[in-house]
Amino acid sequence: MRVLLVEDNARLRALTQRQLQDAGFAVDAVGELAEADAATRTETYDAIVLDLGLPDGDGGTLLRTLRGRGAATPVLVLTARDALDDRVAHLDAGADDYLVKPFAAAELLARLRALLRRPGQALPGRLALGDLGLEMAARAADIGGRPLALSRRELALLELFLRRPGRVVTKAEIERAIYAFDDEVTGNTIEVLIHRLRRRLADGGSRVALETLRGIGYVMRDTAA
Ligand code: CA
Repeated sequence: MRVLLVEDNARLRALTQRQLQDAGFAVDAVGELAEADAATRTETYDAIVLDLGLPDGDGGTLLRTLRGRGAATPVLVLTARDALDDRVAHLDAGADDYLVKPFAAAELLARLRALLRRPGQALPGRLALGDLGLEMAARAADIGGRPLALSRRELALLELFLRRPGRVVTKAEIERAIYAFDDEVTGNTIEVLIHRLRRRLADGGSRVALETLRGIGYVMRDTAA
């Protein structure tokens, strides 16, 4: 799941980005309205976390632009404590939820997950294929109930495949789901990541296989099915 974080306070931006990444999201983080606008024109996001007070304008402008373009991307607005009227106005303008600063990371994550669970968005509590499972809130993978230790990127990769069991996932889709702007994706980064995940599944005794379709992409299958 890819999230755009728009927040001009550098410290809060870095902290929030890290918290979202730890929760398994690929995060593009920007500090200005113009950058946010450009990002939404070139990338597709599963959700946007939007601060309203930005140095080059009001975050609400982006919200109206997005809805004007017909984008249904869930938007969670970050707002100051004293701006109740603004909140109502922004919900009217197409925000899906708001959070008052300062907020706890746990609350931001809970709200985001709730937005991603709404009709049309699919974020179930648990994804599974064969003996392999992933608890979404805890970001914990298991093979037949036995914990499977995975890195943050391996978990994001597993999530992508578990969302599309038996279907082809292309390299471009993996890049999009896992890497944010400032990550360096070299030629074989994805192959290395796939190789590691495949080995962890095999070491854990899973009957789920991650197959390579040369020149096309990858597919995850339950070999016992
Ligand atoms: Ca601000």
